Amino acid sequence: MKIEVQSLSTSTVNSFLICPEQFWLDKIEKEPKCQQSANLVNGVAMHAAAESWFRSRQYKVPMTLETLVRVYRITWDQLESVRPVVYDGKSREEIEANAVMLLELLMKEDVGEVVGVEVPVKYRLSSDLDFIGRIDLVTRDSDDQLVLWDLKTTARRYSDDDFRKVCEQLVLYRGALAEPAHIKVMTLVKTKAPVIESHRLVPSYLNVNEAELVERFRMVKRSIEVGVHFKNRGWQCNGCGFIHVCNADRRNNEIELHFRRAA
Ligand code: SF4
Repeated sequence: MKIEVQSLSTSTVNSFLICPEQFWLDKIEKEPKCQQSANLVNGVAMHAAAESWFRSRQYKVPMTLETLVRVYRITWDQLESVRPVVYDGKSREEIEANAVMLLELLMKEDVGEVVGVEVPVKYRLSSDLDFIGRIDLVTRDSDDQLVLWDLKTTARRYSDDDFRKVCEQLVLYRGALAEPAHIKVMTLVKTKAPVIESHRLVPSYLNVNEAELVERFRMVKRSIEVGVHFKNRGWQCNGCGFIHVCNADRRNNEIELHFRRAA
């Protein structure tokens, strides 16, 4: 099978880096997933509700918390109707109660004037590769400064490593703009008493280098095209939709035999 990668998004690159085998089964072999984690489903449902909220701000249409919760529930139900959800300690009711508190807090956040929601981005990264993505939120602050936002639902407060990852993504989004922009992340932290935090990101402080990022994208493109895929076991296996295929892989036995013979 000849694979030609013409465009990549940060989420595609990151999913390849987290587990190349999972990426391969999902994007290349299009293997159906057997399950999905409640964490992931909650993140998608929160994102859908937040998107509705910011669109209502952009078009100045009033929206109630009840409507946002409905968007959250409908998104969850749609995802759950496709494949089973795996829970990790908390029930759906507990997760939803936390999500409702976060949505209530989100409605009180002052982000400035909303000028774009889920804005598509596409530009040439190198001679044979396009960068593609979607900016969660674009605003203008009181100084008429454009701000690009990424929204993250997270179980704990962000570390510098987490900030670096999201900064890399936003630096690449900013590459599509004709005018300067600040970059910010809004973290929706799902602690017992939930909090929302907004942070302005400074690429030089977080050691984010644009040339390095472009090179990473080019190397991932090449790796996919030559068929690199291996299992990277870790936290990402919890709720992985391909665990049934991954664990039943005949290559597991071949690897074991190889080590036995070598010994
Ligand atoms: S179970 Fe783990 S190693 Fe296997 S594909 Fe999924 S994430 Fe990768």
